[in-house]
Amino acid sequence: RAIVWCTVLGPELTEPTPPVLMSSKPISVLITGANRGLGLEMVRQMAETQGPIRALFACCRDPGGPRAEALQALAKKHKDTIKVVCMDTADQSSIKQSAQQVGSLLEGKGLNIIINNAGILTHSTVADSTPEDMASCFNTNVIGPMRVIQEFLPHLRTAAKDSGMSGMHCRKAAVVNISSSLGSVQSALQSYEGFKAVPYRVSKAALNMLNACATVELQKDEILCALLHPGWVQTDMGGENASINAEESVQGMLQVINSLTEKHNGALLDYRGQTIPW
Ligand code: NDP
Repeated sequence: RAIVWCTVLGPELTEPTPPVLMSSKPISVLITGANRGLGLEMVRQMAETQGPIRALFACCRDPGGPRAEALQALAKKHKDTIKVVCMDTADQSSIKQSAQQVGSLLEGKGLNIIINNAGILTHSTVADSTPEDMASCFNTNVIGPMRVIQEFLPHLRTAAKDSGMSGMHCRKAAVVNISSSLGSVQSALQSYEGFKAVPYRVSKAALNMLNACATVELQKDEILCALLHPGWVQTDMGGENASINAEESVQGMLQVINSLTEKHNGALLDYRGQTIPW
């Protein structure tokens, strides 16, 4: 089967792409906001269709609550791989505690991939957005990912050092920040009227800048950083009229993640691997 891959990821492929995240060495992955939507689907696909995975840290803010039931059921099915971890990405002490918990579960081994997926969306205009709306979006969508990178950096560094691989690769050490095409300045200038979510747009643009800064700062440690736009997806956030379902979005995103090497360091890609405008 011929697969036409986008130019950013390389030349046209004539063979099917390898199974996502397939590697001879088991890797460990951490996903935030893993109890529903795209995060839950990422955990499901990684546990059920990818491998080998040593540990999949599925983080959510209320692991014992009703909103985590689907994740808990999945964790029960894959109890050797999925570890449910309590993490509220809007709460600094919660991120710190989860890093301590994950650190002890890693037993000195590194953490290969962090997926900063947890996010919130507020619909409001420039005229009616409150400081609280903006602060809340920033807290979850920007400060959360920054604190996660800070707290888990020692484990990413360990993974990079212990990998035995040269250069950068997602299976070595990587931070993947889930952004949005709505964070694009160009998109706002062209189509703001179609989606008036000012705090969300501003926070995702800030996340993009955070990623750019992290890209430069972490490259000496050979830790790769990238931004992914999942597409417009049928989740609680995307709504039922969205153009694709979570399964398709996550299949694409995992394929892109698996393809990331140092030439993609700092890139902003969509779930099909195509660059999108800043
Ligand atoms: P959902 O609203 O369906 O799910 C959001 C997830 O984030 C939930 O698991 C939620 O947990 C979690 N979350 C929110 N706040 C926190 C917090 N403070 N601490 C921990 N977890 C938190 O959204 P999606 O799955 O659709 O979105 C996932 C990511 O994809 C987001 O970053 C979003 O911006 C991005 N995205 C989504 C698009 C779409 O069309 N769906 C398009 C572009 C980007 P809880 O159940 O506890 O609230």
